[in-house]
Amino acid sequence: MIPELLEEIRTCKMSSFTENDPVKKKLKIESDLYDAFHELFLKNNPSFFDAVEKFKDEITALGAYEIGSCNAADPDNGYCFTEALCTLKPTRHKLAFANIFLDAFVMLKKFITKKEIPTDDGKRVVLERLVKFLLNTEIQEALSQTRRCRDETDLTVLLAGHVFSQLAASPHFTMDDRKTNQPKVCPCRKDHGKIIYGNTSIGNLDVWHGCLDLIMEGADVVIYTLDGESETYRDLDSTEDMKPTHFDMTDNSAGSSLVQVAAETIVFSFYHRQIHPDHKNSLMPCIGVSPGGLVFYFYDCVHDVLLGSTHFPLTASAPFQLSFTAVIAAWLVLNHKHLCNGLSLIDLDAFPKAKFLSVAKNKIDVYRNELRRGQVGIRHANQVSLDPVSFVNSKFIVSSRVEELL
Ligand SMILES: [Zn+2]
Repeated sequence: MIPELLEEIRTCKMSSFTENDPVKKKLKIESDLYDAFHELFLKNNPSFFDAVEKFKDEITALGAYEIGSCNAADPDNGYCFTEALCTLKPTRHKLAFANIFLDAFVMLKKFITKKEIPTDDGKRVVLERLVKFLLNTEIQEALSQTRRCRDETDLTVLLAGHVFSQLAASPHFTMDDRKTNQPKVCPCRKDHGKIIYGNTSIGNLDVWHGCLDLIMEGADVVIYTLDGESETYRDLDSTEDMKPTHFDMTDNSAGSSLVQVAAETIVFSFYHRQIHPDHKNSLMPCIGVSPGGLVFYFYDCVHDVLLGSTHFPLTASAPFQLSFTAVIAAWLVLNHKHLCNGLSLIDLDAFPKAKFLSVAKNKIDVYRNELRRGQVGIRHANQVSLDPVSFVNSKFIVSSRVEELL
């Protein structure tokens, strides 16, 4: 029933059809949409209220991390994200997820309990994205296919079409054009608009750098997709054992998934600060994606704070139902420009620093001033040749006895 109603709203078959004034017509469509949300969605899905409440609980808390050994400022090399080494050490501090999205929860609470619509245009657009997504069961159903995706690119395309571009107020995205598999259509076979492939490189060859799997362009969110090497994507009907398909929350080794998410978040935060020095909020997010769910990392390059979430499964129950908690978290992060209040509620003097500014102090000016996006290239750590023939400006020693002999 809900998809049909949404279709009616979209095609103006309801009462708004008779309205000629375009502004009034738009308002009528909006109000029909909000009515549908309260009358149909909320009544049928009371667990949505619980999902909202969860963001003040420890179960969704963001952990603060301190960085130990790290190759972010190696004097001899700049490392690609896939070779990034960064020991993440848990601190004794956790933040409620809602701490950094207070205004968003004020808005959401007023909307679901009192049907209040925000007056601010930006926030209203963002709220409308969430409402439309939640009413659109058709777009959600394809997400039951995440474990059937052939590889990480298919998974990225599926989530870009069915989650990220649906929830973000700015739906445009660029996929990494170095992928060998570059599907033209979504794995669900439906057309959600053109999939744009392009150069997603970021950073500087002297420090951490590399290509991002996906960038949500207007939303300014980086997406990292867990690669297929350590994962097995297979048919759910298969009798073979399933390997875990989520982030290994204990792996701190170079190039591991969470280390890459952290490195990309840190670089993206510095890059964003470089091009938007005037922005009040300097806490920038990255979404890590696996076939089973999402993780969220945030880095604030001004206050040097690194936060990371637990794993948010996409599925709430079998048969397939999308987890409202994961949807709300993704919606908050994808619209952080409108919804995130940064660390403004936190007593930063009493909060642990990531210590990135000190571990990378030798090259911190590169992070602050010389990051680029596009055409960054890739430097491999072994690019410095160990072949003596290639030594530059080297001192060649031949003892006089050898000279005499030969
Ligand atoms: Zn699709």
